[in-house]
Amino acid sequence: MQRLNAIQSRDDIPPSYLHTPIGLLLEYHNLRRPPESYDSAQLLIGMCMDNRKHLHIPDNFAFIIRAGGANLRYSEFKVSFAIAIGKVRHIALIGHNHCRMVNLASRREPFIKGLSEGAGWTEEKAEEHFRHFAPLFEIDNEIDFILSEVVRLRHRYPKITVAPMLYRLEDNQLYLIRADG
Ligand SMILES: [Zn+2]
Repeated sequence: MQRLNAIQSRDDIPPSYLHTPIGLLLEYHNLRRPPESYDSAQLLIGMCMDNRKHLHIPDNFAFIIRAGGANLRYSEFKVSFAIAIGKVRHIALIGHNHCRMVNLASRREPFIKGLSEGAGWTEEKAEEHFRHFAPLFEIDNEIDFILSEVVRLRHRYPKITVAPMLYRLEDNQLYLIRADG
């Protein structure tokens, strides 16, 4: 698994993340650390809207923004809100493999057909909708996209710790993404 660091014990969590909400997220989800109780959110999680994922985390532990491909570019005000009002100082950005935002262009026909049949749109309107929005949401590769989005978020919110992660659908585990390739 290129560029992915498995987290199978606390020793696998980098010291810079241990004892932070990022490390706790990995412990709760991967290592089944018993849930603690929280009065307020400890971090912001950005993840894909895809239905094939479920996080094991305690109640009140995290704000979660779900968007196609874990793309937070169009959710900026919500990110700012979690920081400003929710007082979180950590973001876990979680992509996943087999993301259907990859190669979105290949889904043009079923998208148009599905929207016109399913929602009652005209094909012309559905086609225009796809043409306008698909380029904004398409991603080339899940790992590359998460890394680029993490760089963008770190630049945008310089005091916030942002960790790139991947959720593997085969084992439902979180992996840390290495930036070094
Ligand atoms: Zn996805």
